[in-house]
Amino acid sequence: MVSVPVQCPYCQNTEVIKAGKQANGTQRYRCQNARCARRIFPLQYQDRGRIPEVRRQVVDMALNGSGVRDTARVLRISPTTVIAVLKKSRRAATRQPRTSDTPSFTRRRRARTTQARSRAG
Ligand SMILES: [Zn+2]
Repeated sequence: MVSVPVQCPYCQNTEVIKAGKQANGTQRYRCQNARCARRIFPLQYQDRGRIPEVRRQVVDMALNGSGVRDTARVLRISPTTVIAVLKKSRRAATRQPRTSDTPSFTRRRRARTTQARSRAG
């Protein structure tokens, strides 16, 4: 038996357990770090558009003024993937890592609506 060291690509934590398989049969892993922003990940990605490093490059190129088709050509991914990555990266930038003291979505939303009401009244 050969043990293969697996590291979380998001927080570099080595405490990782197996977590089922992808639809295509490749092994999926779960990071045991509770504060990790991304918990489940495959070791090998099937397509380039899923690789975290490529996705980071998409955002970097957009910030440096590259267009969608420009980015797609250079990184060898489809323009549709570039748009999808950019849409998701905006959400990820505002997302907080999972912690126990983070208020739930409904609680935060209720706080916001009461603020709006008091401002109106
Ligand atoms: Zn992690």
